[in-house]
Amino acid sequence: MNDKNTTHFGFEKVAEAEKARRVADVFDSVAQRYDLMNDVMSGGMHRLWKAFTIAKSGVRQGSRVLDVAGGTGDLSLAFARRVGRSGEVWLTDINNAMLTNGRDRLCDKGFLIPVAQCDAEKLPFPDEYFDCVTVAFGLRNMTHKDAALAEMRRVLRPGGRLLVLEFSQVWKPLAPVYDFYSFKIIPRIGQIITQDEASYRYLAESIRVHPDQEGLKSLMEQAGLEKVEYFNLTLGVVALHRGFKF
Ligand code: SAM
Repeated sequence: MNDKNTTHFGFEKVAEAEKARRVADVFDSVAQRYDLMNDVMSGGMHRLWKAFTIAKSGVRQGSRVLDVAGGTGDLSLAFARRVGRSGEVWLTDINNAMLTNGRDRLCDKGFLIPVAQCDAEKLPFPDEYFDCVTVAFGLRNMTHKDAALAEMRRVLRPGGRLLVLEFSQVWKPLAPVYDFYSFKIIPRIGQIITQDEASYRYLAESIRVHPDQEGLKSLMEQAGLEKVEYFNLTLGVVALHRGFKF
């Protein structure tokens, strides 16, 4: 296997095409119980992390928002409530099972927003269209993070902002407890709730091979984003990165 064409799938090194297929398997498998699992494993904290993201988004009535890797639509729903009839929110994801759940959930709550199944690395939107692009817990799963970030920047209007919410590097003293929880407890909870321990082992591993706070800031800057800053949440378990296009 040519080293240039390999990437990480958790701790495994795999061919790039295999990563995309295996990530698809993970989300096909967990889609039905994804929301329940998020609440259980984060003790509901993912709601606070997402609320913080929305608070930092600058999204208001009339804004155009793109939710990349939006899955079951938590952020899209919050944005749809904010932008009103004059705004526009797109829920997008590469995975049909996640997207279908998200679309149905938003419909049930009375929001008929546009939905597109697409790869973040090739977004089917014109240049400079959106005021805000978000990606929550999605970038870690992408094969070419640099290409995905460049695409997200491309579709932002000048002055627009990109928000990346993602697991990050936890405060060092907390690391032993966090490691125990994520490698020993989360996969077991995953087994009980989704009958899929392996997918939740992948979650723990994929966090460890994802760039840390400074690493992701550099990646965003290399993609052309400016004034990049980050906010550590829950002692760095998660970080919100924000960058602008000028
Ligand atoms: N944003 C949602 C949230 O915060 O609850 C869902 C996050 S879920 C952990 C990650 C999502 O990333 C999955 O729905 C998966 O299908 C999607 N994804 C993975 N690779 C992708 C890609 N290349 N392009 C678009 N979406 C992708």
